[in-house]
Amino acid sequence: MIETAIKTTGYGASGARSPLGPIEVERREPGPRDVVIEISHCGVCHSDIHQARDEWHNTVWPCVPGHELVGRVTHAGEHVTKFAQGDLVGVGCMVDSCRQCRSCRAGEEQYCEGPHGFLATYNGPFKPDGSNTFGGYTTSVVVDQDFVLRIPEGMDAKAAAPLLCSGVTTYSPMKRYKIGNGDKVGIVGIGGLGHVAIQIAKARGAEVVAFTRSPDKIADAKRFGASDAIVSTDEKAMATYAGKLDFVLSTIPESHDVNPYVKLLKRDGRITLVGVLAPIETPVDNSVLAFERLSFGGSLIGSIAETQEILDFCAAHGIAPQVETIALEQINEAFENVVAAKVRYRYVIEHARR
Ligand code: ZN
Ligand code: ZN
Repeated sequence: MIETAIKTTGYGASGARSPLGPIEVERREPGPRDVVIEISHCGVCHSDIHQARDEWHNTVWPCVPGHELVGRVTHAGEHVTKFAQGDLVGVGCMVDSCRQCRSCRAGEEQYCEGPHGFLATYNGPFKPDGSNTFGGYTTSVVVDQDFVLRIPEGMDAKAAAPLLCSGVTTYSPMKRYKIGNGDKVGIVGIGGLGHVAIQIAKARGAEVVAFTRSPDKIADAKRFGASDAIVSTDEKAMATYAGKLDFVLSTIPESHDVNPYVKLLKRDGRITLVGVLAPIETPVDNSVLAFERLSFGGSLIGSIAETQEILDFCAAHGIAPQVETIALEQINEAFENVVAAKVRYRYVIEHARR
């Protein structure tokens, strides 16, 4: 057989303490149901940093992050029906799943119960053949058509990229819990996820209150659609919303004390954490939950169908993440700025930029 695996260049890490540097990886030979995508843009998610620095203790080296990919289809296999050469498409956090389990059959691939769970776009070494997957910090990728998203007509490629993770991650629980008209919603943490979540909640008809540690994000939060924005360390201001909210979505990407936000909920309210995949270090006071019958929980990214829905929803409502484009070579500096909460509000790698 002729060796037709595709070589692609990008940036990756060889260890938890090493900065990202130039790397060449191989993509599989495209099969009949695969599309080959020339990646033009890739968002920089806080997860990329957690993974590249092995903060979840499961990183396989080399690690080539990136799960907010947008680009053009350069090849469509003979059985590809959904896409054609030249289409502008996206790939989010998953590139495959078992497709047979209860979750997969229900269209909730992100909760795949197969032996290896869903196949992550990068750091997905649990494929049957044991090989790793590599993300969008490279210039091309080969993906099964069922895990490829259509970028709506007229949507800017660089603005579409963050929707593939930050958009769907915040949209999925709002859809699940039918958050919308008449609801009062708190969005906690105004970063890559939070600034999109404000726009989505507002477009769904909710009244949105933003909570941030950074006083300089107050004006931006209102510009994104919040009717009010509170500095979370201001206890007096926090107290004005005690018992007032129906739903709180926390997007803070590390362990944090959720008790001040639980207190903002009305009876039967719900708080969902989407930014942190680690133990919550400060115990949640169940007496507060019990006395108001509150629900406290988490939510993981979103399904492929929901990812397409949020792309279409954002196109219909004119929702766009606020992005700063960078060259791939600036990625280490970008990581530092994301950790220091200096990014406004999502870095997007533009591969054509040097
Ligand atoms: Zn992400
Ligand atoms: Zn499955």
